[in-house]
Amino acid sequence: MLVLSGVEKRFGSGERAVHVLRDVNVSVEPGDFLMVTGPSGSGKSTLLHIAALLDMPTSGCVSLLGEDMSGAAERQLSQARAEHIGIVFQRYALLGRRTALENVMFRFRYTDHDRREARERANAALERVHLSHVAGREARLLSGGEMQRVAVARAIATRPSLLVADEPTGNLDGEAARAVMEVFRGLHRDGLTIIMVTHNLQLLEYASRHLALVRGRLGVSDDDGAGS
Ligand code: ADP
Ligand code: MG
Repeated sequence: MLVLSGVEKRFGSGERAVHVLRDVNVSVEPGDFLMVTGPSGSGKSTLLHIAALLDMPTSGCVSLLGEDMSGAAERQLSQARAEHIGIVFQRYALLGRRTALENVMFRFRYTDHDRREARERANAALERVHLSHVAGREARLLSGGEMQRVAVARAIATRPSLLVADEPTGNLDGEAARAVMEVFRGLHRDGLTIIMVTHNLQLLEYASRHLALVRGRLGVSDDDGAGS
């Protein structure tokens, strides 16, 4: 599904350079729910941006569905994202004065679905996250947990192969966080491949694989907390 090999990431150059990722190697298989944990500043978001093709490594390879993306132009990357990757951020990234449904439909801006099909898929995605009843409500009027589930609906509405999530529960209280994680669990059971980063080790029970990021290096974690 997604292979990172020998991935290095540096920001800046010369003496000011910050070396954030070091020799990161990981192969994400179809159906994996991979959780990457690590303390703040360990490089989780940087890694996730690379996995989501939002950023490129300084060196090393990234391939998605067997295709090497390392040298790809931005146009090709954005097309691959639109087609194959759903992304969820910690802070939802919704348009507050648009309705939940409109926010989900934004996902179809760069796809060639006609409007009716986009609306149908957007409604189905909202149903999937148990939010059909707020489809017509402006996003700013929703709770944080609801906003994040709208963001998940937007990410999955195009039926991507890969869902990538950066601390998706980071802004939520326990109950709202569980609701989001239960949605992820259902999506994983239905075969969606998921990569999620978090600093919250309590969420490992939802994952099928766990890797720990320590100062930019990715390794098998010492604890055996991940589910089967
Ligand atoms: P995490 O998500 O685990 O908290 P990040 O990937 O956001 O970690 O950041 C890892 C390190 O890389 C931090 O020291 C951060 O300051 C640095 N970093 C991240 N993005 C940039 C950037 N665009 N320019 C310079 N340094 C950056
Ligand atoms: Mg981060």
